[in-house]
Amino acid sequence: MAQGRLAGKRAFLTAAGQGIGRATALAFLREGAEVVATDLNPDLLVKLAEDGPGIITHTLDARDTDAVHAAAKEAGDVNILFNCAGFVHHGTILDVDEAAWDFSYDLNVKSLWRTLTAFLPGMLERGGGSIVNMSSAAQTIKAPPNRALYASTKAAVAGLTKTVAIDYITQGIRCNCICPGTVQSPSLEERIHAMPDSYEENRANFVARQPMGRIAEPEEIAMLAVYLASDESAFVTGGEHVIDGGWSL
Ligand code: NAD
Repeated sequence: MAQGRLAGKRAFLTAAGQGIGRATALAFLREGAEVVATDLNPDLLVKLAEDGPGIITHTLDARDTDAVHAAAKEAGDVNILFNCAGFVHHGTILDVDEAAWDFSYDLNVKSLWRTLTAFLPGMLERGGGSIVNMSSAAQTIKAPPNRALYASTKAAVAGLTKTVAIDYITQGIRCNCICPGTVQSPSLEERIHAMPDSYEENRANFVARQPMGRIAEPEEIAMLAVYLASDESAFVTGGEHVIDGGWSL
């Protein structure tokens, strides 16, 4: 039987309960990795374990430093870290209060400090690892309206990705980020429902900003994550990998 592209590797994911994280956990499993999938929502993890038999699930708040470090100890020798947790705040800078600022930076950026300090030492000890961070095209690549806080956090993710890549480049660690355009997911549906105008009009506006005339499926982003996690991308590090259906062209 052919070996999967991630055979012999162990992956740890945050926010794997739905959307891109879930699709990536299932894709990692299909490609032969041992998968430790975590999420804040235990119900979503039950469904994930049913759909991906063999996936190890663990309820985890990516904002809880002690819990992240405890989960890393339990997860064992992880070669692949996929940092997917993130929240899309809607609005201009004048719509951001201090609580919203702190929440988004805590979840979208500081959670990477948590997982990196939890997993990097082990990866360094074992001589290697691939870290994949979830950024967005909505940062310095493309400035959509009403994404002031979100784009700022995702630019921070890209900046951190590059510094991690350079700091550990001679020690077998690769660190890349993924920068999607609009991707079909439960939280996208919530954003569409929350906007003024009808559901159909709002959805059409999201589709219209993608030159390909469609929104991405989470599985398409997952396949990029598989490539970055695998040894196929052994010469690739520090990259901002845009996968946006031409949005930023
Ligand atoms: P989503 O937003 O629908 O799901 C997010 C998941 O995160 C849920 O399973 C939720 O339970 C979990 N979660 C929430 N708070 C958490 C916490 N504190 N700790 C752990 N898990 C938590 O999924 P999505 O839309 O695919 O987004 C996933 C990532 O991709 C995010 O970082 C998002 O910013 C990024 N992204 C999404 C899009 C898009 O259009 N959907 C585009 C670019 C980037």
